[in-house]
Amino acid sequence: MPMYEFRCNTCRKKFEELVLNREARVQCPKCKKTNVTRLMSAFSVKSAGSSKGAASSGKSCSGCRSKNCGSCG
Ligand SMILES: [Zn+2]
Repeated sequence: MPMYEFRCNTCRKKFEELVLNREARVQCPKCKKTNVTRLMSAFSVKSAGSSKGAASSGKSCSGCRSKNCGSCG
């Protein structure tokens, strides 16, 4: 889901907002201003390097679940 982190330029509040339309205006939940800045999302970075995704790739070892298995593969 397109979840983004924003920071309000007016009251400096940080919040997360679900953005379905890139053109949509994001409103600060505290002061209701639309003067907000989108920050780098921490969610996508975490999920990209997750070890859970290794099993679905099909190349990981079935014995030890390591990506670079040289002992039992
Ligand atoms: Zn605000």
